[in-house]
Amino acid sequence: MKRENLVNANSLNQYLYCPRRLWYQKYYDTIGENYYLRDGEIKHKNKGRRGGWTREIYLESEKYGIHGKIDVLESNLNIPVERKRGKYYRENDIIQLTAYCLLVEENSGEKTRSGIIYLHGTDERHRIQITKSRIEKLKRIVKEIKNFRLEQPPKIVANKNKCQKCSARKYCMPKESRMLGETNEQLE
Ligand code: SF4
Repeated sequence: MKRENLVNANSLNQYLYCPRRLWYQKYYDTIGENYYLRDGEIKHKNKGRRGGWTREIYLESEKYGIHGKIDVLESNLNIPVERKRGKYYRENDIIQLTAYCLLVEENSGEKTRSGIIYLHGTDERHRIQITKSRIEKLKRIVKEIKNFRLEQPPKIVANKNKCQKCSARKYCMPKESRMLGETNEQLE
């Protein structure tokens, strides 16, 4: 499968925050650079290895239609570690970690059914189990992202708080769109 047809693990996280924001990132370049091209550059970076750790490893999975760069891999145990800035993690972080586990699993040939989220805010490591339902959820999201169409932006997210700091806000115009009663009229 061509790389451009694979879904980035980070996009799964973005999708769960707001599908519409991911749609803007894909078609409107709202983060100021080409998202997919940037990812492609990562592929060619060297992976470094120190002790039992592998840093910045890029992997692809044809089976799940995903790719991504893993921050840290505890290579003796084949456990990916995702580092987060804050004090909490959410479902979107878990699904991103699920993607990393599946990437490791497919590329190592060994079952990788747990990963770690490290929170800088609390200096804690949380072991996360990769369950069947999480894998099913990942597959559903991958399918939905692959079905994105330029002429069909996803609906505005229900939780208005998410819009406050959204990088796509000036394109999306959530307030105006809500006043219009729906989401897509400004694009038609
Ligand atoms: S402004 Fe709100 S609805 Fe629009 S893309 Fe951002 S989070 Fe989603």
